[in-house]
Parts: sequence; structure tokens; C-alpha cells
Amino acid sequence: MTPESPALVQLPKGNRVYLTFDDGPDARWTPRILDILAKAQARATFFVVGRQARGQAALVRRIAAQGHEIGNHTWSHRHPWTMLSSDARREVRDGAAAIADILGYGPRFFRPPHGCLRRCMIEEARALGQAVVLWSLSAVDWGVLGTAAGVAARLDAVQDGDIVLMHDGRGLINRPWQTASVLPVFLDGLRQRGLRAERLD
Ligand SMILES: [Zn+2]
Repeated sequence: MTPESPALVQLPKGNRVYLTFDDGPDARWTPRILDILAKAQARATFFVVGRQARGQAALVRRIAAQGHEIGNHTWSHRHPWTMLSSDARREVRDGAAAIADILGYGPRFFRPPHGCLRRCMIEEARALGQAVVLWSLSAVDWGVLGTAAGVAARLDAVQDGDIVLMHDGRGLINRPWQTASVLPVFLDGLRQRGLRAERLD
């Protein structure tokens, strides 16, 4: 995915990186990651899947209560290219509605599954007031590349202003346990470099 996409929001540099966690909430791994972030006083953005969020409202509220941003990652994480446009638009709407039902306010950011920028979904998100966010650095914390060493090495390349893609949800092939295992050292490294982990804003 190209970070130069026109749909990617522009964020200020200034010793900041933007950590993002997708495909949750996950009853096991989201709380673990929240604890790690809290200990490091780091903020992040969680792109939640609406139908999972609806089943774990308390966990969604906890994410927000700990100062993190909650973004829309559609209702069910269906692949953007496998739907009629009417269904694709509904995925965006229902994902946002699930968050609004829990928090009392709608999400400000949208990230399409797999980073696929399907025009109708982008239009729908923007009509709902959500900025579309991809990423500039991926931890690739899934599949065969998602080893702890591999994830750590990729995270090591983080630069000022990066939007970092990670996963707290298991999805089909994600490995959030690897992410959780390397996150404390990564956050410590950020602090040593004078980089603050912030939520999207
Ligand atoms: Zn995803």
C-alpha cells in the first residue's frame, strides 16, 4: 500500500509517531496491549470491527477511557472488492454506528480492510465525517512473516511522523501475541529516541 495515497491524512511531524491497532477488540489481546500502552504512557488508535465491538462494549469503553482513539474498520471486515457498492457503503455506516452506539459519539477516522481504497467506501466515510487513514509503516504482525524478531525489526525502522500498522485482533492470520511481546521494548526505544506515541488527532 502506498503511503502517498491522496486519501491518507497528513499528520504533523514533531517527534510523534501514531500507533494503530486493527481488527479488534479482542477479549484476550486488547487488554494486554492496553496495559502495555498504559505503563509506557503511550496513546494509540484502535480501528475496531463493528460487530466485534458490539459484543464487547465494555472493552471498547475501556479503550476510549484510557485516552485512545477509536476508529472505524467496517462492520465485519469483508474484503472491499467482494461486495456490491451498496453493501460496501453499509459496511462503513454500520461500523461507525456500532462505535457511536457504545461511545455516544461517532468515529473520526476510517481505515478500510486490507487498506483497499474503494471509492464508494471512501465517499461514505467522508460523508460521515471520517478521515481515511492508511499507514506508512507496517509491523506485518501476521502470517509467516509475523515472528517476534521480524515484527521487532520492522518496528525498529520507525521514523518521526510514521503511522504504524499493528493488530490487537486475531482476524484470520494475525499474531497479536507477537505484537504484544515486542511492544514494551519498542515503546521503550521510542522514549529513548524522544518520540512520543500519540493517537490520531
Ligand atoms: Zn483489518
